[in-house]
Amino acid sequence: MSERVIPVVDQRQRALIAHVPAMPVPAVGHLLDRLHRPLRDLRISVTDRCNFRCSYCMPKGVFDKNYPYLPQSDLLRFEEIERLTRLFIGHGVQKIRLTGGEPLLRKHLEVLIDKLAVLRTREGQALDITLTTNGSLLVQKAATLKAAGLKRVTVSLDGLDDAVFRAMNDVDFPVADVLAGIEAAHAAGLGPIKVNMVVKRGTNDDQIVPMARHFRGTGVALRFIEYMDVGATNGWRMDEVLPSAEVLQRLQAQWTMVPLAPSASGETAQRWGYADGQGEVGFISSVTQAFCGDCNRARLSTDGRLYLCLFATQGHDLRQLIRSSASDEAVSSALAAIWQGRDDRYSALRASLPPEASGSAGRVEMSYIGG
Ligand code: SAM
Ligand code: SF4
Ligand code: SF4
Repeated sequence: MSERVIPVVDQRQRALIAHVPAMPVPAVGHLLDRLHRPLRDLRISVTDRCNFRCSYCMPKGVFDKNYPYLPQSDLLRFEEIERLTRLFIGHGVQKIRLTGGEPLLRKHLEVLIDKLAVLRTREGQALDITLTTNGSLLVQKAATLKAAGLKRVTVSLDGLDDAVFRAMNDVDFPVADVLAGIEAAHAAGLGPIKVNMVVKRGTNDDQIVPMARHFRGTGVALRFIEYMDVGATNGWRMDEVLPSAEVLQRLQAQWTMVPLAPSASGETAQRWGYADGQGEVGFISSVTQAFCGDCNRARLSTDGRLYLCLFATQGHDLRQLIRSSASDEAVSSALAAIWQGRDDRYSALRASLPPEASGSAGRVEMSYIGG
């Protein structure tokens, strides 16, 4: 096999200044971007570190012991995350997803969850707080997370075959321990649980049917994710993407499947159910069927930059603003103005972009802005 050369440019250096607009933007619970998409979902990356080295996300060759992870002083503190979340809620955010890196590596994460769980939307509702994890620490932490106010978890698992899974996480982590983590989350009441499986053709596509068989009838919704060209280090190639349509065909060869209506506007997954009532699966097809038209997600990086798209090359530096003496009104107006200027829709444009624009150089890593 020929070696892939992966250009590595650290895009975290290139932050955009978050300007406070001359005219304040009132927080009325509804904010539209330039493509008329509301702001509803905030994904917060709480660490850029991880104990796995999934080749599609943090390949070992790049994320080695010399990799310049963010120093502790650069991380947003919990009070800062809480403040920003409160201001985002003022503009319509209803759902929070904690992610990373591996979010359970952030020390005392339950303290942050505790702070977020008491926040209320403008309508007086509790936030929908969820977390995406590789599951490795769930056995130890599920009960504490639940007690702090976490509602549910999404666990990533790319196969049931131990050898395949150990090779994909690239740190020799066993499947059994992730399955035990899913059990622990279930026992703690962190449901309904979703399981994310990134499908790479030729690497783990033989795990599609075994994974479906395993989770069928358990109440766990398995979601198949198309391998994406995020970041600049995973050496992505289109021929390693297995389109969701093909995944569905493989399931249909085993079971009768029926399409289900989306559960919410802005829902990323297309849902299909087993005709015999044994649950559902989802497809996240950001390569073959872009869903940018409904994308209501903002991403807050570990060091407090606001990213408007998973494929963005630059983020807006909110940390600098909140560490100045800016008032809540000023910070709130600044983040509103950033959203109002948003016209990102990378996946929808991917096929029509010239090669130099669709190349990966310049993009930030998913472990830094969160999945
Ligand atoms: N470490 C946690 C985990 O793995 O669940 C949270 C962070 S991870 C970046 C969030 C999600 O992004 C995971 O479900 C992961 O499988 C997915 N992901 C990472 N790189 C991806 C890629 N290149 N294509 C598709 N999904 C990817
Ligand atoms: Fe870590 Fe999650 Fe990325 Fe895998 S996908 S390397 S578990 S952050
Ligand atoms: Fe949203 Fe960007 Fe993904 Fe489109 S490509 S769905 S705008 S994050």
